[in-house]
Amino acid sequence: MSRIVIAVGGNAILNPSRGNPLEQQRIIDNTASEIAQIIREGHDVVLTHGNGPQVGNLLAMQEECGLVHAQPLDVLGAQTQGMIGYLLQQSLDNRLKESGINRQVVTILTQVIVDEFCSSFKTPTKPIGLYYDEEKAQKMMRQGIKMIKDKKGFRKVVASPAPVKIVEENIIKKLVREGAIVIAAGGGGVPVIEKEEKLLGVEAVIDKDLTAGMMASAVGAEVLLILTDVEHASLNYGKENQVNLGEISVTEAERYVKEGHFGKGSMEPKILAALRFIRSGGKMAIISSLDKALPALCGGTGTRVV
Ligand code: ADP
Ligand code: MG
Repeated sequence: MSRIVIAVGGNAILNPSRGNPLEQQRIIDNTASEIAQIIREGHDVVLTHGNGPQVGNLLAMQEECGLVHAQPLDVLGAQTQGMIGYLLQQSLDNRLKESGINRQVVTILTQVIVDEFCSSFKTPTKPIGLYYDEEKAQKMMRQGIKMIKDKKGFRKVVASPAPVKIVEENIIKKLVREGAIVIAAGGGGVPVIEKEEKLLGVEAVIDKDLTAGMMASAVGAEVLLILTDVEHASLNYGKENQVNLGEISVTEAERYVKEGHFGKGSMEPKILAALRFIRSGGKMAIISSLDKALPALCGGTGTRVV
């Protein structure tokens, strides 16, 4: 039996029908079934998840509604931790009971300390929320909102500082030791800074892969399993000469990062999280797709950094 931190991508639990609750339940149940299977195999699982598409939905709701005050990003992060945590916790509980496994599943609302002097606050690069046409975007930029343009239009950009410390780390470790299945640090954690020994939420988002890597080291996991929507990390991704990576060493992974093979803000943070985890004593980090979770864990597919 090994302890595994599983990070499920926000896109893997993305609801293509814009938050339709029935559809959301079906997708969550599917994810919970995959996780339950890993637990049935005898592994000790700590779970985390992304929240990008879900925060996007909340931003769209508050922008379109106009009747209530918009909430800052730390609050939206907490809201989505609650929403996704609740759905996963209940669904996983049901799946485990079906299999006669008597383990408590619990979601921890998790804050993560970031560095307030991180350069990312001065020059934000992480796109979030709705796409806008040029006219609306120009108006927003005149109001001081930072935006970037890609193929589909203009989007707001926000800071994405690196995680420094998980505030609830000790209670997470304690619950794991006591045999609970913990869901924590959803969406990378709610970003907070420490000011005069007090915590204060900030307008930012944290990459969930980087926090997952940190949490995996903190709980003494042997394996970090990052589940996304592609079966492998690849070289020359999307090109004719694409090569899907199987087992790679830390040195090889570092070289591929330097050569720029991995998408910034998508595949690169997964590889960086894997590297950080292995360097601080983890045995193996695996990147694969949700539906290939078990075969990837057994070495049958996926990209493994060792
Ligand atoms: P998640 O929600 O799981 O974090 P992301 O969209 O952030 O998902 O990251 C997964 C995406 O990374 C894939 O869908 C793929 O389009 C993209 N990607 C960028 N570079 C690579 C690469 N070198 N190999 C594989 N996928 C890559
Ligand atoms: Mg991502």
